[in-house]
Amino acid sequence: MRYAIGLDLGGTNLKGGLVDQAGRVVFKASRASPVEHHSPEPVVAALIGFAQELRDQARGMGLEPEGFGFGPPNFVEGPDWIQRQVNNLPALNDFPLRPPLAAALGENIAIDNDVMNAGLAEYHFGEGHKYDRVFFIAIGTGIAASIFVEGGQRVRYILGWPGDTGHIIVDPHGRRCTCGGRGCLETVASGPAIREFALDVARAQKSPALAARLAEKGDLDARDVTEAALAGDEAARLIWDEAGWYLGVALTSYQHIYDPHIILVGGGVAEASELLLGPIRRTMAALGSPYYLKHLREIKKASLGADAGFIGAAALILLPQALR
Ligand SMILES: [Zn+2]
Repeated sequence: MRYAIGLDLGGTNLKGGLVDQAGRVVFKASRASPVEHHSPEPVVAALIGFAQELRDQARGMGLEPEGFGFGPPNFVEGPDWIQRQVNNLPALNDFPLRPPLAAALGENIAIDNDVMNAGLAEYHFGEGHKYDRVFFIAIGTGIAASIFVEGGQRVRYILGWPGDTGHIIVDPHGRRCTCGGRGCLETVASGPAIREFALDVARAQKSPALAARLAEKGDLDARDVTEAALAGDEAARLIWDEAGWYLGVALTSYQHIYDPHIILVGGGVAEASELLLGPIRRTMAALGSPYYLKHLREIKKASLGADAGFIGAAALILLPQALR
């Protein structure tokens, strides 16, 4: 059996673990992200320290990892892995990350964007393995996708991405987006958008459950909306209907472009499960071309959850280049 260590570099937590070649997690760990620093060196030292701890734990079990895979939630440019558009660990912006990591951890290291890694894990080790064409969408603070087309080929354009899924326009008359555009998918279906809708509904006293929750904890998030909806709160359910409608609009267009066999919905917002998936399915059935829709066998919650990012990072080491 072969093993590698994968690391998922989030803005809140660093997650990592030892993963085997079948995608099984041998052990995992997490710790707070080193967000407090203003220069790259202490951030890099924290990443290396975490990676070495994971390796030492593996060795303590008599297992030798072949290498380390990394997944930052931003763009990575060029052979030295220059970090671009780093919003959650801003000290790393424009920093060439590969040289110090290679010096400390050896040459068998790899990197790809966190959502690309999560998609890779879901494709090879999750529900995606049953199909050829797979569309993975991660919905959290932002929205991004990882798309597999014919023969497991991955769609990659600028900086290795399949394009900025969170910023396709789904509501031309809608709100301004943080990107400067108007009516982007992230303005109506991301975690922050769900929170905004929930706060509006609670403050307008349209939802007794959300108003009570807001009074209790001073803020709301997607989980509160899920709990309220599951408890029968009509206004909370409508928030998911609305988010699901807009996701359905976006995913119908993607169905017409890439014709996936399965759509896997991941990220924190996907924890709403059927509250979100139901409206997505209904919207796609109402808007889509029957020719393309007949190829879509399933719309499901992604199965690997919050571990997908580091499992996919380890897969960068464990899978042959052609399968990444
Ligand atoms: Zn936008």
